[in-house]
Amino acid sequence: MTLRDAIEIAILFAAIYAVLRFLQGTRGAGILKGLVLLLGIAFVVVFAVTQRLRLQEIDFLLKEFLTVSLFALVVLFQPELRRGLMRLGQNPFVGKFLRGESTMVEEVVKAVAHLSKDKIGALIAVEREIGLGTYVEGGVSLDAEVSSDLLDTIFWPGSALHDGAVVIQNERLAAAGCLFPLSENPEVSKRLGTRHRAALGLTEETDAVTVVVSEETGKISVGVRGHLEQDLDRESLRRILRELLTENVKRAERLTRAAS
Ligand code: ATP
Ligand code: MG
Repeated sequence: MTLRDAIEIAILFAAIYAVLRFLQGTRGAGILKGLVLLLGIAFVVVFAVTQRLRLQEIDFLLKEFLTVSLFALVVLFQPELRRGLMRLGQNPFVGKFLRGESTMVEEVVKAVAHLSKDKIGALIAVEREIGLGTYVEGGVSLDAEVSSDLLDTIFWPGSALHDGAVVIQNERLAAAGCLFPLSENPEVSKRLGTRHRAALGLTEETDAVTVVVSEETGKISVGVRGHLEQDLDRESLRRILRELLTENVKRAERLTRAAS
């Protein structure tokens, strides 16, 4: 056995392992097992006979069949392949790499749109460079995946956690029921209620991004660096959050800060 053989075996091994892992637990796994068994037996039998008797025509057909059956496999496993590719795209690391952003922003935008339509008050803070650990500790710890359903449920007025703010850290919903410092800015403090002043206050102390939905008006605002961008629609909210929260922007801001 040469080194080349060893490499070949290793590649085949890895490929088969990857396919099996890919299909693990799916309906396709059962089909594959049956198919491999059937084709394996059929090929061994027919191959042995054609080789022995030198039936070149059948041998030729067999090889053609092998090529064609590859396409048949793709068709047969189309649902599994599709699901697998979709899972790949949803994988947070691959997703970030491909799109430069996460599904987190999408989930927040979706939830905020619902909450705004139903005039349910909400306050969401997203951590950036400066840690929000102190505020998380003051709330109720969750460490859950960020989903619009979960955000809707938390801010629903009947829920035990609807009072206060939620904090998102590293794409995870870290805590709910958190309290932020109220902005002391005299210009805004008169006009705004406590929820909006808390949204602003946090951005005066940290580099976090806050999203507020007003209970009174359903209006959406975004706070960053001590400034509140008010009365946003769904599209501008999405655009602003993407701008403020994508990795590239974070990196660029870090660089400009380092340079200045
Ligand atoms: P809205 O437009 O929704 O009425 P608002 O800015 O007028 O908002 P309030 O009416 O005072 O604010 O909203 C009170 C709610 O704001 C509280 O029920 C609580 O959920 C939230 N809140 C108040 N203070 C804080 C704080 N320090 N940190 C986080 N959330 C707070
Ligand atoms: Mg109010």
